[in-house]
Amino acid sequence: MVEKRRIGIIGGTFNPIHLGHLMIAEVACESFNLEKVIFVPARIPPHKQHDVIDSRHRYAMAAAAVADNPNFEISDIEMRREGPSYTVDTIQHFKIIYGPNVEFYFIAGTDTIRALPTWKFIEELLDEVHFIGATRPDGTSVIDATLDELGPKAHEKIHVMEVPEMKLSATYLRDRLRSGKTVRYMLPKCVVDYIAENHIYGKE
Ligand code: ATP
Repeated sequence: MVEKRRIGIIGGTFNPIHLGHLMIAEVACESFNLEKVIFVPARIPPHKQHDVIDSRHRYAMAAAAVADNPNFEISDIEMRREGPSYTVDTIQHFKIIYGPNVEFYFIAGTDTIRALPTWKFIEELLDEVHFIGATRPDGTSVIDATLDELGPKAHEKIHVMEVPEMKLSATYLRDRLRSGKTVRYMLPKCVVDYIAENHIYGKE
């Protein structure tokens, strides 16, 4: 039987994109033999509405951050869709684009994996994609209870990926930016420059 192509997808708010996101995408690409990873910024994240800047800026920063990696791509599919950005709709879109000979791997942090039972059409989603859960130093790395809650399909389709854990989150970086602290080496330089040029996440 011919091996299917494997494509990674990393969805998120990317408010802003940081080295944690880029690192887990890169490690997933290598560890799971992914042909490429597509970054999909959410226009309206269903689970995060507080303190989210305009999607135009979040998309532009993500586009700049992935530009120098030939294994990375960006998609504006969730930018173009009305209403909350549900992953189940995004996967349907990619399935149509890429056809049946592709397996999709959705890359996330283990905090996101733990929230999967609350996702729209998670049962159907588990039929369509694998999930890769990158460990995070926030006490969420053990996901056994989530796997049990979601059942046998989850045990088969959700994979934990050990990464060099980074205590970076967009929330932490927004706080640093607002208090005028350095974010150098935590964000790609192009993102630091974009934030300065566009006066976003400024001191309050
Ligand atoms: P926020 O702090 O605003 O909630 P975040 O940094 O967690 O944001 P998202 O844009 O929601 O970022 O993240 C997209 C995906 O990347 C999520 O699945 C999240 O779990 C994962 N992720 C973010 N930062 C890390 C990190 N440092 N290590 C592993 N996974 C991460």
